Amino acid sequence: MKKFNGFHIVFPGLFKILAKGVTAITLWPFVFYKSDALAYRERTVVHETIHIRQQTEVGIIAIILYVILVALTGVWFGSMLILPLFYYLYVMHWLILIPRVGSKEAYYQICFEHEAYTHQYDISKRSPFGWIKYFAL
Ligand SMILES: [Zn+2]
Repeated sequence: MKKFNGFHIVFPGLFKILAKGVTAITLWPFVFYKSDALAYRERTVVHETIHIRQQTEVGIIAIILYVILVALTGVWFGSMLILPLFYYLYVMHWLILIPRVGSKEAYYQICFEHEAYTHQYDISKRSPFGWIKYFAL
């Protein structure tokens, strides 16, 4: 089965509302780039494609948790709050790391970033759910 790599789009307008240093962002199923130059830079594309795969994997976990939550509570609408699980984990890991290493280094140590930076030169070395092993607290 072919792996889903996301829809990659150059969308400079979006970056007016994001922090200055942000040059690409993955919001499953899309990857947005600040410029053409970045969209053609291989390691950036691979890095963001890894985020698509991570978000697909965490998305599967979130859907399973959603089904369990609905089964246990009967609350189908409110339980949807579990669906952006990737973004909760991402921000939570960053916030946990900040007091120890500072905000910039904490960003590189977020399990999803750590894995993406590790494999951005060769995605074939990446294994599914590989980000879990970088989830050090
Ligand atoms: Zn990243």
